[in-house]
Amino acid sequence: MKTAKGAVLTAAGRPFEVRGFPLTSPPEGMAKIRLTASGICGTDVHIHDGRLPVQTPVIIGHEFIGRVEEISETDSEKHNIRKDDNVIVYIACPCGECLLCRSGDDANCVNMGVTNGSNPNTAPHLYGGFAEYNYSPVANLIRIPPELDPEMTCVFACAGPTVLHAFSLAERANSGIEKADVTVVQGLGPVGFFAVMKLASMGVKHIIALTGRENPYREELALKFGAARVMSLEKHGMDKIIEYIKALSSGLGADVVIEASGNPSAVPQGMDMLRNRGVYLVPGQYSNSGPVEIAPEMITFKALHIIGSSQYSLSDVQNYIDFLLKNPHTHSTILSLASRYKVEDINRAFDDVRAGKNIKTLLTP
Ligand SMILES: [Zn+2]
Ligand SMILES: [Zn+2]
Repeated sequence: MKTAKGAVLTAAGRPFEVRGFPLTSPPEGMAKIRLTASGICGTDVHIHDGRLPVQTPVIIGHEFIGRVEEISETDSEKHNIRKDDNVIVYIACPCGECLLCRSGDDANCVNMGVTNGSNPNTAPHLYGGFAEYNYSPVANLIRIPPELDPEMTCVFACAGPTVLHAFSLAERANSGIEKADVTVVQGLGPVGFFAVMKLASMGVKHIIALTGRENPYREELALKFGAARVMSLEKHGMDKIIEYIKALSSGLGADVVIEASGNPSAVPQGMDMLRNRGVYLVPGQYSNSGPVEIAPEMITFKALHIIGSSQYSLSDVQNYIDFLLKNPHTHSTILSLASRYKVEDINRAFDDVRAGKNIKTLLTP
């Protein structure tokens, strides 16, 4: 029987074990997918470190795309997904019944399940993204149209919907984010880059991207994606950065700041940069990196909108696809962010992610 490799996490902190698994026909309701690309996310590093606990053994990986190789006729009809379609897999399974699900907030379902959490010793074995093949519920597949290169689509498959979800929460809160003129993006990882692109697509004139340390390569990319200026804490310092923001905004401060660094100390800095009634979008603090001191007086006195955002909905993935279709000029730069590794080299890939070597690390065949 044909087999495919999957990288199994046996315990937090241990190297992944690459094993061969038999390739069988998918059970009813699931599709068999040959993976084209699978991204390693900051979240995966936190899982591997044991900072986000998961049941082991498990094949993790939650931002992946592939080509449907086998699907039943019934499932194909029901979900309008065909053999040979390129698809993104949406791994979340909200319950549909809790208060959050019923009020349109299924991204924050309190009984959230995932498609990739099952034990790889149980058939069909390959539930997660760190593998050559994957079996996922057909209901969790989103088709990638032929205009989009699948590997390019994988680069922001998680960061893109994450950012779009945060923006949709800001819109639902009537925060006025669509009128933003002076904006700041803290951090230039995938979430930061996509936030820059999203602001640029809205026609925002002043997009200031902030990094901790100087990084000419990331700086150039941010400018390509639409940032007006990149500043760093290392070179400019907080006082100079705030001075610059104030100069752009008649002394008021930024309309919108987006936290995409994951660094706790970015949060009081972000609050500092905002104007009265400014909007602080915080999708970037995804794992516990410790506490930080803030002056809550600022929340009251400036009457800030602080909008947290974690996870995303199936509709955000569709919106991500639509965003890529509407912004073809970004595609070649997006694809240039990918660094590729084979599944069997996953441990080296993780080392490189930890060392900050790549912007987006993909496992590819
Ligand atoms: Zn992710
Ligand atoms: Zn729910």
